[in-house]
Amino acid sequence: MNNSGEPGVKDLWFLPLGGCGEIGMNLNLIGHDSQWLMVDCGVGFTQSNHPGTDPLIEMPKTSFIDQRKTSLMALLVTHAHEDHIGAIGKLWHRWKCPLVATPFAAEVIRRRALGRGAAVPEPIIIASPGNDKRFGSFIVRWIPMNHSTPETCALEIETAAGRIFHTADWKIDKAPVVGREFSAARYESLGLRGVDAMISDSTNAFVDGESPSEGDVRANLIELIRCLDGRVVVTCFSSNIARLISLIDAAIASERRICLVGRSVSMMVECAKSLKMIDADLQLVDQRYVGYLPQKEVLVIATGSQGESGSGLSRLSMDTHRHISLEKGDTVIFSSRTIPGNEGAVKTLRRRFVENEVTVIHAEDSGPALHATGHACKAELEAMYRLIRPRVVIPVHGDSGRLIENARIASSVGVTNTLNGVNGDLFSISPATGVSRRFCEVGRVPLV
Ligand SMILES: [Zn+2]
Ligand SMILES: [Zn+2]
Repeated sequence: MNNSGEPGVKDLWFLPLGGCGEIGMNLNLIGHDSQWLMVDCGVGFTQSNHPGTDPLIEMPKTSFIDQRKTSLMALLVTHAHEDHIGAIGKLWHRWKCPLVATPFAAEVIRRRALGRGAAVPEPIIIASPGNDKRFGSFIVRWIPMNHSTPETCALEIETAAGRIFHTADWKIDKAPVVGREFSAARYESLGLRGVDAMISDSTNAFVDGESPSEGDVRANLIELIRCLDGRVVVTCFSSNIARLISLIDAAIASERRICLVGRSVSMMVECAKSLKMIDADLQLVDQRYVGYLPQKEVLVIATGSQGESGSGLSRLSMDTHRHISLEKGDTVIFSSRTIPGNEGAVKTLRRRFVENEVTVIHAEDSGPALHATGHACKAELEAMYRLIRPRVVIPVHGDSGRLIENARIASSVGVTNTLNGVNGDLFSISPATGVSRRFCEVGRVPLV
């Protein structure tokens, strides 16, 4: 540390302002040689005190980096999920630093900002795996990871004081629907270069074994939908383009036509079409005409898997959708998991469908996998630690219980140094290894 309390040339620091000791709202800072890099800038969701209303959207307090904006070298985006990009439209204008994202994330950032009435951040520098970029004293390399939205990348960040591997959100997928399958060799060679600190996704630290593959989910959805009569409605996380592609394949296999219900899924399909991830000529049926099609020829993809009020699925459950009315013989499939806190809203949604004699199939009750998590489970975390063999592991992206469990997993496969802390704690990676508690002010503020 130099006299001003900033990182010196021999220092390599990690300072989370969000996402460490909590779920969502990821914002990480990396400090070296009086300069800072930001990794992601997301939102979090807090349950409202008023039953029946949607969660509050919040963003991290950023006064620490606001006061240092001239030494903020870049904001690096790992992927297009809201807990990683959701606050960029509101916050980036405070710093106006280079903003770097892959093409898909850049497209989502632009469209989200427009949708929220925020100024679109411009320019967005496009990152591509294999191309190193230098920002001040940092050299950054983008490394493709399997996850539940396209073009997710981990970051290899090299400095004179050491090397960081920031995993972002990731899993091992041997049969992904989008992107390349997991390659152990890629991470083995990174391990051989010597990783001082691995900043590690803790989401599924309590889940034994390995995550299912998107390829398996695709096959199961195709099989299930082919066997159903009546209309089929599927809800999933709309940023999961692989899942949307699987549903398009299921529609083709069962000779159904696709109708999108909900702004978010329509926006994501437009993003994917513009980047040629989904066939630009894909014919969609307008909601107004679904009622004229034979029931067996309809596949609706709807937003609202978490029971959000006002979503497409919520309107279908209450039979208040202007053009589509479900009835006995129709089926609603939840190709999703219920995020903790939303159980009540999802239960209400399911009850409404069942009362209308609509069949409900939820991935959480299904034998064949109808949803695959995007996050590494225990066996995958162990495998990655063995490939990377980092000097230090810093668990992030989870509440305190998950961080502690992730550290325990790292220790169990021979990582000798793990650092645990929460937002606002300063993690020193080099030259000494340790944590300074409550280094800077942190908190949550409403995204307005
Ligand atoms: Zn995340
Ligand atoms: Zn994610």
